[in-house]
Amino acid sequence: MSDTLTGPVATAACRLCPPRGGVVVAAYSGDGPARPAGHRAREESATTGVPHHDHYDPVLDAFVVVRHHP
Ligand SMILES: [Zn+2]
Repeated sequence: MSDTLTGPVATAACRLCPPRGGVVVAAYSGDGPARPAGHRAREESATTGVPHHDHYDPVLDAFVVVRHHP
């Protein structure tokens, strides 16, 4: 995981992303399994009360955890 990959994101290809986009709060290497990103998304949702989801970003080649704008 690298914090350098975090930041605003707008992924039209992802149907889970909110229309106004979201913020990448974590990223996991695309070489690894998707499970950690999914787990992190659920964890962040439970901790913050703000919806999160994870998706694969082909540009970053990483599974990213996206925080929805409230
Ligand atoms: Zn998404």
